[in-house]
Amino acid sequence: MLEYIKNVWLGFWTVIVGMKITFTHLFEKKVTVQYPDDRYPIPPNARNKLHLEPTLCNGCTSCARICPVNCIKVETLRVVPDDPEQPMIADGTKRKLWVPVYDIDFAKCCFCGLCTTVCPTFAIKHTVEFEYSTYSRDDLYVRFSDMSPEKVAEKKKMLEEFQAKEKAAKAEAARKAAEEKSKAEAQAKAESSPVTESKESN
Ligand code: SF4
Ligand code: SF4
Repeated sequence: MLEYIKNVWLGFWTVIVGMKITFTHLFEKKVTVQYPDDRYPIPPNARNKLHLEPTLCNGCTSCARICPVNCIKVETLRVVPDDPEQPMIADGTKRKLWVPVYDIDFAKCCFCGLCTTVCPTFAIKHTVEFEYSTYSRDDLYVRFSDMSPEKVAEKKKMLEEFQAKEKAAKAEAARKAAEEKSKAEAQAKAESSPVTESKESN
């Protein structure tokens, strides 16, 4: 019986101790918010969703090479010298590469921030956006390139034509060099022949 009374008192005492803690916090300043109706501001240096500014990206691929999980895909095309559209990168430097493909698979990204630290033009940055959960993993694959398929096709064609011209020019230069070399060799031979003959006659 004594044990029973002791257990009842212990249970009652436990409730009193628990409620004391509850009551002391009841009148203190709140430290939680009613998310998602209320939310704390995100620090500007938080590492959340990435954003690429295509006009700043020079296609150097440093970000893709340093990414530990290979979730960045970059494809580039050379800007040919006779391209009438000779763009500048937004930081004022001349663009040498078009960037037809710049994709990030956010399903794989671990938000380490390495891509943002190696980017020479600050084209890729973390944003404060963190609420982008979806029902499909496909929706987490984001394409950032601002080039339309038509523009990509046009630039590819220009590059192919330029490379064909370049190849033809190289072949022509090699042919001329070989021709000049054989001419020079023939001339040298012709010049050396009379000397040999005159030595033989002596
Ligand atoms: S934050 Fe890290 S894991 Fe995510 S894309 Fe950049 S380098 Fe890759
Ligand atoms: S985002 Fe930056 S590091 Fe990545 S390809 Fe573009 S310029 Fe290079």
